[in-house]
Amino acid sequence: MFDNLTERLSGVIKTLRGEARLTESNIQEALREVRMALIEADVALPAIKVFIEQVKQRAIGHEVMDSLTPGQALIGIVHQELIAIMGGEKAELSLNVAPPAVILMAGLQGAGKTTSSGKLAKWLMEEKKKKVLLVSCDIYRPAAIDQLALLAEQTGAEFFPVQTGQQPAQIGTTALDYARRHHHDVVIVDTAGRLGIDEAMMQEITQLEQLLKPVETLFVVDAMQGQDAVNTAKAFSDALPLTGVILTKLDGDARGGAALSVRHVTGKPIKFAGVAEKLSGLEPFYPDRMASRILGMGDVLGLIEEAQRTSDKKEAERLMKKMKSGKGFDLNDFRQQFQQMKKMGGMGAMLEKLPHQLSQAAQNMNVDEKIINRTEGIINAMTPQERTKPEIIKASRKRRIATGSGVSVQEVNRLLSQFEQTRKMMKMMNKGGMSKMMRAVKG
Ligand code: GDP
Repeated sequence: MFDNLTERLSGVIKTLRGEARLTESNIQEALREVRMALIEADVALPAIKVFIEQVKQRAIGHEVMDSLTPGQALIGIVHQELIAIMGGEKAELSLNVAPPAVILMAGLQGAGKTTSSGKLAKWLMEEKKKKVLLVSCDIYRPAAIDQLALLAEQTGAEFFPVQTGQQPAQIGTTALDYARRHHHDVVIVDTAGRLGIDEAMMQEITQLEQLLKPVETLFVVDAMQGQDAVNTAKAFSDALPLTGVILTKLDGDARGGAALSVRHVTGKPIKFAGVAEKLSGLEPFYPDRMASRILGMGDVLGLIEEAQRTSDKKEAERLMKKMKSGKGFDLNDFRQQFQQMKKMGGMGAMLEKLPHQLSQAAQNMNVDEKIINRTEGIINAMTPQERTKPEIIKASRKRRIATGSGVSVQEVNRLLSQFEQTRKMMKMMNKGGMSKMMRAVKG
């Protein structure tokens, strides 16, 4: 996703190659290209205008720190503004009401409403330990009701069956009553979608909204529709008190326009993103991670932020060197990576920090967030010598470490091979992708 935009933006950085500092004229040129990139990505024009203006304001007169090139400085600014245009802070799902909390799902047919209802149920059950009831008010399409029933079965959420002849309002209120009596925490109400916005559809969903008083009314919209998606979202948000947006099919969206425009045009935050067809393919939306992903150079961004924070050339150089060399990387560093991962909010966040290709590789390694603590425990059970020289860890040491950390020898083996893989990845980074990328932004 966002492939084109990522490519175009890194091209812009290259145009600043050789420039000693950010000036009005080189900024102008770079911004022209950023604007083109955004237009190509199908970002809504009002959003582009604000974005460019903000970047310009911040870039002109921006002190380029010694440790950064103008290209890097501009990426830093673009990154910050990408975050801002997508809403800044992550918008939480609000469930702070006396249960059951109602979540009303709205959107056009085919947007991914029913699928997202199922995914959201799974997420709420697994991540928030909620008892969820799924109900469909789409009386016009029996297939949609069956689809939701199937999703309920797959996720283990309870499904509220519909009696033939019941109208949406009646279904909604009986389901809510049922949920109250059976102590559900959350009721997700899927509604009928049409192919386009029409009066009857709006009336029906407005009535449901007034009756059920949902704590969240989420508009589900297909990212691949680009600006059309954003316009539909706007029409809905004018008619209904939306609390947020679920942006689906981001996995298929090579342009990224909707992600960048929805918040600006509707004023409503994106709360979740659909990133795969499967039930686990729904993620809370983090503007900062998305911005990093768009720029496709997460580690460089980390470096820039670090340099901005410390404003210290030496510190930036040290970081750069450490990342580039991968030399002397031992289990202490490996443990530190895991500790950092925990601080940064787990594996997901960590993956976002890696450049695109590497993040794919790491995903393929299939590292489970829940093993972070165990991993740390295993490394803690080692002696300092073992941590700096992992090759001395042979069978008897493995047994001792396993006993000490309360895991099996296989797990110790797994950790050691994971460490080896990471070390290899660092070497790869050193040889190819990473240094190339550094050159690209250094100019
Ligand atoms: P509804 O009419 O709004 O209820 O739409 P559906 O939930 O039936 O989804 C329409 C199609 O989009 C289905 O084939 C879904 O599998 C697919 N879909 C929904 N969300 C995503 C997503 O995030 N990624 C991908 N790749 N496909 C999705």
